Amino acid sequence: MSKLNEERREFLKKLTLGLFSIPVVSIFSSLRLPAAWAGDTVTENEPMAVTLGYHVDASKVDTKKWPRKAAADAKNQFCNNCMFYQKQNDKLGKCQIFTNRLVASKGWCNSWTKKA
Ligand code: SF4
Repeated sequence: MSKLNEERREFLKKLTLGLFSIPVVSIFSSLRLPAAWAGDTVTENEPMAVTLGYHVDASKVDTKKWPRKAAADAKNQFCNNCMFYQKQNDKLGKCQIFTNRLVASKGWCNSWTKKA
């Protein structure tokens, strides 16, 4: 087989793969994955969550360890009224501090900041 034919064959192979990949990428990018996609949800035991004292249930925060949550006006601090929270559904929202991964609406962490 001549070198020209090999190059042509390789070009056609790449072109076919490229054309095939466009609809596949379009399908995946147009899919709206459920917000509760487990792989994207912050868990309490991952390093950054531990560092920030993130809890899925704000009522379970150890206020001795996290005194900001012990303040008189802190009882109504939840992820769902934090400025870094973007609601996805009633239970979950994206948190900017956690690079837009999902946190619990009734959660809390030490970076809580009142939504303006
Ligand atoms: Fe929740 Fe706000 Fe902390 Fe994010 S920064 S985990 S929304 S309290």
